[in-house]
Amino acid sequence: MPYGKIASYCGHLSLTAKRGLLLLFIFLQTAILAGHLYYQYTYIMGEAARILRNTTLLEAERFETSLDAMGYQVRLIGNALLLNHTVTSENTNRFLDEELKQDWLDGVIVFDEKGDFVAQRALFPLENALSASTLTQASFRDRPLFKQLRHSKENDSLFYWQSQGTDPNIHGFVMYHAIRDAKGNFLGGVVGYFDAHSIVKIFRKLSDKGFYLGSGGAMVVLDRDNYIQLTRVGAGITVGPLHFNPYLKEVMKYSSDSAQTNQYISPIDGTSRMGVFLNLSHHKWVMAAGLAEHEILHGWYLQVFCSVMALIAIIITQWSLLNYMHANSLQRAQLVKDALRDPLTGLANRRYFDEQVRNICRVVSRQRQSLCVLSIDLDYFKRINDNFGHSGGDEVLRCVGQILPGLVRGNDIAARLGGEEFVVVMPFTEPDYANVVAERIRSNFARQEVDFHGRKIQFTASFGLAQMTPDELNASEGFQAALDRADQALYRAKREGRNRVCMASKNQQLILYPT
Ligand code: GH3
Ligand code: MG
Ligand code: MG
Repeated sequence: MPYGKIASYCGHLSLTAKRGLLLLFIFLQTAILAGHLYYQYTYIMGEAARILRNTTLLEAERFETSLDAMGYQVRLIGNALLLNHTVTSENTNRFLDEELKQDWLDGVIVFDEKGDFVAQRALFPLENALSASTLTQASFRDRPLFKQLRHSKENDSLFYWQSQGTDPNIHGFVMYHAIRDAKGNFLGGVVGYFDAHSIVKIFRKLSDKGFYLGSGGAMVVLDRDNYIQLTRVGAGITVGPLHFNPYLKEVMKYSSDSAQTNQYISPIDGTSRMGVFLNLSHHKWVMAAGLAEHEILHGWYLQVFCSVMALIAIIITQWSLLNYMHANSLQRAQLVKDALRDPLTGLANRRYFDEQVRNICRVVSRQRQSLCVLSIDLDYFKRINDNFGHSGGDEVLRCVGQILPGLVRGNDIAARLGGEEFVVVMPFTEPDYANVVAERIRSNFARQEVDFHGRKIQFTASFGLAQMTPDELNASEGFQAALDRADQALYRAKREGRNRVCMASKNQQLILYPT
């Protein structure tokens, strides 16, 4: 349906119906907007999840690569010092210093088969990290861990270690490698140390290159079985002395070998995050990366706010526009009515009357039917004005306007032609019946008692009736001729004493109906 048609159709509806339609329309607009915002939300969350998964996989890869490199270096040092003796004792310190330049090696101790130190080197004072007994003996020989490793068939192991010395902030990954000769005899071992702070440095390097998780984001390595946070970059508490955090159990349930995203509340800093908990290859540790939800959705929240504001503004505008347009259409309808009606009596005015008469004459002529014209003039109206004032006269005219439509049929046209003169056009009516109608109007007028400030005004009228000839029905000025004849009959009624109906006969003779 074209818009114009819809608009004109809606024009006929009541204000309540229009408001109902607008509410439906507003509901639709809101639903569309909500759908759009929901789509945006899922799109943003999906993109964030994708970025997070990729970043976590990359960081985990780097972490594993660093541990692999560390393993290679620990083996290389052990072989050089204990097996092949390619490094002489004078060159040992220089050799180890060179090895410690790598990001993933912060300390190294080489010991012989008894556990006594062959060489030791670290980027921090070793005396802060080792226990007093180990320091004085310069040996691991009494350490239970050494005994355990020495007798183990495993040549390699990796574990997390916290300083037994004076500085508990020294903690990190320790990699042990046993050196054996060709026959399998234990020659000694190497422990390499990778400090938690150095892992943070590696993470930071990557974030400096653009892998930034936002100010509320965090990247951590967690101890899977002991619920300890080993390292952390980003928001929240950074690396400090290790301690068991029972709440980590809640997020650890998300840990998996595939980088799935989860929404959770951080047990470390309470921030609501989207995060990935990826098992590292040793399954002892979990690499977790999280983005703060309020940061991911910051732009979306702004969009929701602006959209809701815009929707409210649109709704208010549409609502006021509807009310304004409705008031306007009522005004217009009233104006049209006023232009066609006489304001005092509410009857058709001359213009509207002429238009309607033209139409009805055409129809009556086409159907070869009869049409009668009744001319009405109130009797001695000047007297009424004189006795009751002009407003008293107006009250009588208003009374005529109220009762006249009820005294004629629906097809008949009643109009005020001016002053106290009225006319009734009766289509499809023979003169005899028109006369009955005229008589009914006359007697009804005569019975009226118009209340005017407690006084009763009585009035009568004189009537002239004429039938239109077929020629008049076809001619453009035909109605005026018939009205003139009705007026002639009316003058006759006046002359004959008023309050009576006179009929103009076809041969122009006036027939008087005495009262
Ligand atoms: P007749 O019986 O011969 O028709 O006497 P009449 O007094 O009715 O006739 P006349 O035409 O001399 O006077 C009509 C009066 O109607 C004159 C005028 O003041 C009054 N009149 C015309 N229009 C209005 C109107 O709108 N309101 C009022 N109150 N009086 C009106
Ligand atoms: Mg008059
Ligand atoms: Mg008069």
